[in-house]
Amino acid sequence: MLAERLPGLLPPLSRAEALEVTAVHSVAGTLPPGHPLVERPPYCAPHHSATMAALIGGGSGLPHPGAVSVAHHGVLFLDEAAECSGRVLDAMRQPLESGHVVVARASGMMRLPARFLLVLAANPCPCGRHGLSAAGCECRPSSIRRYRARLSGPLLDRVDLRVTVQPLTRSELSALEGSAESTATVAARVREARERAAARYEGTGWTTNSEVPGHALRKRWPVVTGALRAAEEDMERGMLTARGLDRVLRVAWTVADLAGHGRPTAADVGCALELRTGVARGSTLSGVGRAR
Ligand SMILES: [Zn+2]
Repeated sequence: MLAERLPGLLPPLSRAEALEVTAVHSVAGTLPPGHPLVERPPYCAPHHSATMAALIGGGSGLPHPGAVSVAHHGVLFLDEAAECSGRVLDAMRQPLESGHVVVARASGMMRLPARFLLVLAANPCPCGRHGLSAAGCECRPSSIRRYRARLSGPLLDRVDLRVTVQPLTRSELSALEGSAESTATVAARVREARERAAARYEGTGWTTNSEVPGHALRKRWPVVTGALRAAEEDMERGMLTARGLDRVLRVAWTVADLAGHGRPTAADVGCALELRTGVARGSTLSGVGRAR
């Protein structure tokens, strides 16, 4: 449900983005009837049994855009991600890094845009009850390990936010009703943050934090002095790769943009580290809405 709401939180597509997305959907044959121009970020949720061609693109005859391209400038949601084929999941590493896929066929090569927000959902174990106190999990430790290993390290290294979601009881759920923010309220906050980022990168060709290469980000837009210390210590201890450090930095900029900070502070970096590892470190996640 959260993944489905995500496109509603993203700003409408720019004219150039809308034309790109419309072109892909036209080729894929997924253009919604009566909508000559796709103006909202698309949402694509392929089944976990999706083949390589369905997810990445290809097929016999003329190459067909895959889900990674249909979700271009939008959200790609893989439910039960640990049930997907490991080969198919690992093939997503290229578009996640470069923002495009190259589909090779006997009839020729096709380069398709594939810059999407990836959401993976997975159970903690095959039965789904591991870690819950009320209902016991009966999975063997070896089968839990095998299950989790399907999401490979290199793929998870490209996942910036990890959130553990506990099931809610009926009374907890009804207590939350009424206090929840509307999609429009959160979308307004996202739009403001995106505008701050776009203003900062004006004239560079980049508009969002996720597009800026790590070296450019570090050189041209430094964080508050010493703010990266915790992340650098994690790297020295081998808990964070160089790519991971760049990704933490980009998330820290997004946290700062949401909070209205001119530059990421140590708390913003701490928040990005917590979101990346899914482990609380005592920083307040107030800036990104947990407390709001
Ligand atoms: Zn289990």
